[in-house]
Amino acid sequence: MVPGTTKLIDVLNCPSLPSLPAVAVQLLELTGDPNVNMKDIAKLVSTDQGLSAKVLKTVNSSYYGLAKPCGSIDRALAFLGLNTVKSIVLGFSLVETTSNADDGVFDLGGHWRRAIMGATGARAVAKQLRLSDPDEVFTAALFQDMGMLASYIMLKEDYAKIINSVPHRKLCEAEQAALGFDHTEVGEMLGKMWKLPEELCIAIRFHHDPDKADQRYAEMVRAVALGVLAADAMSPDAPKSAIRKIERQAGDWFGSKHGLDVENLLEEIGESSKTLAKMFEQDIGDVPSAMTLMNEARDQGLEMQLSTQREAESLARESVTDGLTKIGNRKKFDAEMGAMFDEAVANSTPLSVLFFDADKFKIVNDTYGHAAGDVVLVELARRATEVVSSDGIVCRYGGEEFVVLLPNKGVIDAAMIAERVRYTIADKPFDTSSVDGVPDELPITVSIGVSGLDAGASDRLSTAKELLEEADKGVYAAKDAGRNNVQVWGRFTTGQSEPAPAQSSNQPANTSTPMPAERGNTLLLIEDDALAATLVMSLLKRSTVTEVEWVSTGDEAFEKINQVSQSGSNPYMSILCDLELPGKHGLEILKAAKGNRSLSEIPFLVLTADDSAETKQKVESLGAAGCISKGEFCKNLGVWVQRLADWGAIQRKAA
Ligand code: GH3
Ligand code: MG
Ligand code: MG
Repeated sequence: MVPGTTKLIDVLNCPSLPSLPAVAVQLLELTGDPNVNMKDIAKLVSTDQGLSAKVLKTVNSSYYGLAKPCGSIDRALAFLGLNTVKSIVLGFSLVETTSNADDGVFDLGGHWRRAIMGATGARAVAKQLRLSDPDEVFTAALFQDMGMLASYIMLKEDYAKIINSVPHRKLCEAEQAALGFDHTEVGEMLGKMWKLPEELCIAIRFHHDPDKADQRYAEMVRAVALGVLAADAMSPDAPKSAIRKIERQAGDWFGSKHGLDVENLLEEIGESSKTLAKMFEQDIGDVPSAMTLMNEARDQGLEMQLSTQREAESLARESVTDGLTKIGNRKKFDAEMGAMFDEAVANSTPLSVLFFDADKFKIVNDTYGHAAGDVVLVELARRATEVVSSDGIVCRYGGEEFVVLLPNKGVIDAAMIAERVRYTIADKPFDTSSVDGVPDELPITVSIGVSGLDAGASDRLSTAKELLEEADKGVYAAKDAGRNNVQVWGRFTTGQSEPAPAQSSNQPANTSTPMPAERGNTLLLIEDDALAATLVMSLLKRSTVTEVEWVSTGDEAFEKINQVSQSGSNPYMSILCDLELPGKHGLEILKAAKGNRSLSEIPFLVLTADDSAETKQKVESLGAAGCISKGEFCKNLGVWVQRLADWGAIQRKAA
């Protein structure tokens, strides 16, 4: 007979179809009677000496865990109950019945491996879930695939081909496609022919689809299916997810508090199936350790959890990252700014913000194209991020506008950072060699607005947005002032509450101005700290007509003084000198200047980090016009501009 033409009925009418041993048939008859007498059952089983010996051996095996060995079927029935003994008898009967399928083609070993592991699994599930009859569940699981044996005995190689073409869970589908019926139907019919109890027949029929089983037997069929799932999870080619599937399925069928301990279940299967296979004289091959399986599943679960987490994180990151420059985007900035503002206000800590905008960027785009513009934007973000470093966060606000959040930085520090950002961008042209048809380098500048919580009266701001608006206004002022400069909100103004942003230097000190013979119009700034020097220059540029010449070491300053002596002409109006310098100390410079005929009359002011009265006295005794503490200088810049003018160190800009 060939597949496609064979009918289910043909299989069932096949003369070589296995039948149950007489003992089993009688046992089923006896146990179908509600008034069954145990003595009769014991007598029946004992008539088959081979069978009863096997039953006793099994009863006494570790699988049933009896405290004391029992030597007779009578006692086995007393100790373990009718159902257990019945399930063992049926198990042996099935083994005997199917032995004629063992022709080397049908994978009987695989079949028994599945049946035995599934049956021990199902019984363990039933016990853990405290279902009413674990032995019945055991028998059902053991018999579930007997329809396969029957089909094979009838169809031989044709059926073997079907079995070998798909994994077991897809077998029904393949059978239906090739034969028009499947092994669950064959098994059910066979069970009826053998007069198996109705619940066993139902379990056999629906073991692949427990949800379709009659409600009355749903628990039992589901327990069988869970046992088989567990057994499947122990097969060497099972996917690692199989273990998690047991958990999930148990939850679906028995609720989230199902009480199934999967590790325990696998352990039980591992142990019991070996014992039982020995009893049934079947080779089920190696059984993997439950611990190994669980660990693998845990690793994989963890791995999955991690990768889901990673995915979520990367999505979250993407949503706050600017696609072009890879720095934070507007969304990131808004979130950070809001949080930082609230925190700074609550804790009375500083917070400053820079707003910068590329100068004449439209020209870059229009002249060299969008690709070149993009390269410039990426490099702008990179340079700014490098300068700002761990002091704050640089975000792209949109287009060619960027913002920098500087938590814990006062506006003076922020102005210095802004100046360094401006300088770092203007200092070296941008490399655009990666873009075809564009010059290899483009000069780029930015205009920066700065504001900080401490840039004015602390109660002037009620929202983060207002702080940002101040910085934004600074950008407009910087554009007005000629671009490539820094404007600080309301900081460098004297005596007025109306904000009037100040402008920082963007030109190198200019010494080419014609100079009067006796007294020039340049301020000689001697300062090793570049940022402090930048700040001083920013301040002076806006407030005075004084040119600034800046040197950063004591030795260079000494050189300048010597030059004045040698040339006899003096370009300087005043000298502002840091006391703590590399090379010659500020005091030596002061002495040299005072000893120089051309320089002795001009105001010499000392900047110092050392606030002591002693230092001040010493400096003044050497002829300095004043001694300025750096901290004090930074705090009250407006006042110092005025004082420098009073000292004659600078000239006030005409209104
Ligand atoms: P200003 O100095 O006054 O800021 O002049 P500007 O030309 O920089 O200002 P404007 O706002 O007129 O031009 C900004 C230009 O920035 C216009 C737009 O083409 C360009 N731009 C905005 N976003 C991008 C971008 O993602 N990539 C490129 N390549 N260009 C952009
Ligand atoms: Mg611009
Ligand atoms: Mg713009």
